[in-house]
Amino acid sequence: MEATTFVLFGATGDLAKRKIYPALYNLFVDQKLPQSFSVIGLGRRELSDETFQANVEQSLRMFSRREANDPAILKNFLQAFRYSVLDVGRKEDYQKLLQLIEQREEELRLSPNRMFYLSVGPEFFETIAANIQESGLGSANGWKRLVIEKPFGHDLQSARDLNQKLSKAFAEHEIFRIDHYLGKPMVQKLEVLQQSNPVLQALWTNRYIANVQITANETVGVEERAGYYDHVGAVRDMFQNHMLQLLMMLAIHLPNNSTSENVRLNKKMVMESLEPLQKEDVISHIVRGQYGAGTIQGKPVVGYTSEPSIAETSRNDTFIAAKLRIDDYFWRGVPFYIRTGKRMNEKSTRIVIEFKEPFKQSSWANDDSKMPNLLVFEISPNEGITLQLNTRDPQHRGEFKPIQIDFHASGDDVPEAYENLIHDALHGDPTFFAHWDEVELSWKWVQPILEAFEENLVPLHLYAAGTYGPAESDALLAKDGYHWWFDA
Ligand code: NAD
Repeated sequence: MEATTFVLFGATGDLAKRKIYPALYNLFVDQKLPQSFSVIGLGRRELSDETFQANVEQSLRMFSRREANDPAILKNFLQAFRYSVLDVGRKEDYQKLLQLIEQREEELRLSPNRMFYLSVGPEFFETIAANIQESGLGSANGWKRLVIEKPFGHDLQSARDLNQKLSKAFAEHEIFRIDHYLGKPMVQKLEVLQQSNPVLQALWTNRYIANVQITANETVGVEERAGYYDHVGAVRDMFQNHMLQLLMMLAIHLPNNSTSENVRLNKKMVMESLEPLQKEDVISHIVRGQYGAGTIQGKPVVGYTSEPSIAETSRNDTFIAAKLRIDDYFWRGVPFYIRTGKRMNEKSTRIVIEFKEPFKQSSWANDDSKMPNLLVFEISPNEGITLQLNTRDPQHRGEFKPIQIDFHASGDDVPEAYENLIHDALHGDPTFFAHWDEVELSWKWVQPILEAFEENLVPLHLYAAGTYGPAESDALLAKDGYHWWFDA
């Protein structure tokens, strides 16, 4: 891998501590970082290099997948880290940064390849990108890349504005938009599973699949993110990005040579084939919910509007369920149901594929005992694949018995999403990042929902914390003769 300088804006922030430093450390231990490597942390606070390194070390002790207890490895890792004060709007700070980067490139004999990671609020993206360009930080004789966190825009127009501004300083192939769901190992396997297993490949169509269910449930409430979340809701925080990315990753059909370009092209085709919703259709395709008081794991919790810093009158969505259709050769007629919510009964992200039952009316067996074939991808917190089949019940002749064929990966061996993503960004592999086309098409699809919510054209259903969301979410599937699988 090419020598690189990793420039981290927001080096004193929460995301850096919990995800980025542990990811870098685990990559280092696995020898997946470039041989010559320099990290420059940036923040508003004055910090010495030693204090910065001590902070990084502490974050590894708290959050790293692998224990950071080998002093020699730790020392080698931490010696790559330097710190510089930078306020995003102060131009002279970028000049200081440039000097520091050049000095380190000389000391370590690094080629001037620079990766700028923006772990700061989205209100700073534009200023930072412009200052990188103006200061000359991005015009050295190597490559430059920009890694940015979500949210990418607040709606279609703001996303377009932001993209236009970023593209003045960085070309599309230099921008790596993180959607950390794309970094999850099981999500990264979806494409390979389908492509390298003829059994799955043959079944991946409307001929055999009855419906697809994508769920991402959390048990936590709004926590300390009230100010942000109350303006965003489940539709912007989860649905527009993570949920639609899961849909794309599941629904793509790839040719044999699945290059990064193919993946992106096919994801775009999925989004272009999504039947658009008109504002007046939102009410029949989307369920909007907000959690009320209830019980989570035996503990009483307050409702959303009683959370600190949330107005009693807030009509923000903490739950969304949706029915989507992909109007293409493979998926025409297959409903895709997507739901995501806070304060749900369980923390779980999974995809369930329910297969059709062409022999439902067979006369030689008790039909009630027959279950549909299900293929389940468990994405988090545990990773696994289950296939549900029917066999004969030896105890009750004439009845079926469902069995599950299971694969589950064990925790410590599985790299975290941020490890995969940082590794790929360092390699310049854009496969598991959100291309602008996908982001734009996602916002475009979601825009009528945003407007319908804004104009209160869709009722806001209360659901008790600790449940699976409002009853209307069940009704959305019941209308088509289905139900959500695995709700207790
Ligand atoms: P944070 O508030 O903990 O950290 C923000 C960082 O920005 C700090 O290091 C702070 O010093 C720096 N900063 C603020 N104002 C600055 C200025 N004027 N000049 C220079 N630096 C400044 O936030 P976080 O949780 O680390 O999240 C960072 C970004 O990542 C946010 O945009 C957030 O939306 C996004 N994000 C966070 C998570 C998460 O799990 N925390 C998940 C997805 C996306």
